[in-house]
Amino acid sequence: MRVFINPGHALGGHPDPGAVNEALGIRECDIAMTVGSLAANFLELEGHEVSLLQSHNLMGESAGPNVTARANAWEADVFVSVHCNAADGRARGAETFCWDLGSAGARLAALVQKEVWETMASFDAAFPNRGVKVRKDLCVLRATAMPAVLAELAFIDQPEDARLLMEHGCDLGKAIARGVMAFGRQGF
Ligand SMILES: [Zn+2]
Repeated sequence: MRVFINPGHALGGHPDPGAVNEALGIRECDIAMTVGSLAANFLELEGHEVSLLQSHNLMGESAGPNVTARANAWEADVFVSVHCNAADGRARGAETFCWDLGSAGARLAALVQKEVWETMASFDAAFPNRGVKVRKDLCVLRATAMPAVLAELAFIDQPEDARLLMEHGCDLGKAIARGVMAFGRQGF
């Protein structure tokens, strides 16, 4: 399987670090890169081909490398964008976005969501499962030619979620890899 992993926002945080938790000094771009890189490593260990590109052209803006063009040209089988959520510290949990319900992308989203949520819930039973949702405004879902998802692992601006993100990057990388491989085993 050819898996394209897209850690969200800009490499090194310039110009776009994504959401930032000032109190803890952590940035979405760094967590996304850590988790995305680990997911890539686990997939490669299992014999899959992986292409990893961090970029922040989420809504289709042109700054930074064009991640969807790169994924399409590389002829990826599966596309996974990795992000952290933010809501002024008022929300918790994981959610995964897809373009359309009933699609292969929705199946991939359900599998990734299940693995990410179960992993986080194993460390904190109160961690909410926000489920799979449709988003029509994200270019990584709209402009990708293959099943594509965007995973929001947890809320970086909420203290308990932020702590899970800081402590369990490796577990989250494995969870994403397991979700992708489960999708591959189903056939697509
Ligand atoms: Zn983001």
